[in-house]
Amino acid sequence: MILTNCPCGSGLDYANCCQSYHLKKDFAPTAEALMRSRYAAFVVADADYLFETTHVSKRKGNSKNAYLSSAKNTKWLKLEVIFSSYDIVEFKAFYFNEKFKTDVLHEKSNFKLENGKWYYVDGDFL
Ligand SMILES: [Zn+2]
Repeated sequence: MILTNCPCGSGLDYANCCQSYHLKKDFAPTAEALMRSRYAAFVVADADYLFETTHVSKRKGNSKNAYLSSAKNTKWLKLEVIFSSYDIVEFKAFYFNEKFKTDVLHEKSNFKLENGKWYYVDGDFL
């Protein structure tokens, strides 16, 4: 897929931003980078990446198929990172709901660094 602006909102080309993580050429160096790359993976419907960056303890409830249908059934519009620290990222992700109105997912997510790779653990809706 050729995208000029990376869906994560960094302002960089996709090829110079989250794509290298999606292609496993690089690993997201921070929790925020991982969160941004996961948002971008929802936009490009990369279910493998979403599954593999979900912490092992949480994969049961988040199958590849579930990620794929979620990604395909949601029209994501924009990501705003509100706050990020070492292992917590608070963000707003805007999307079109089933009535074609703009809606927002406001979440505070927890991440874990394991063997040099960041993983999404879980999150609270705000
Ligand atoms: Zn990006």
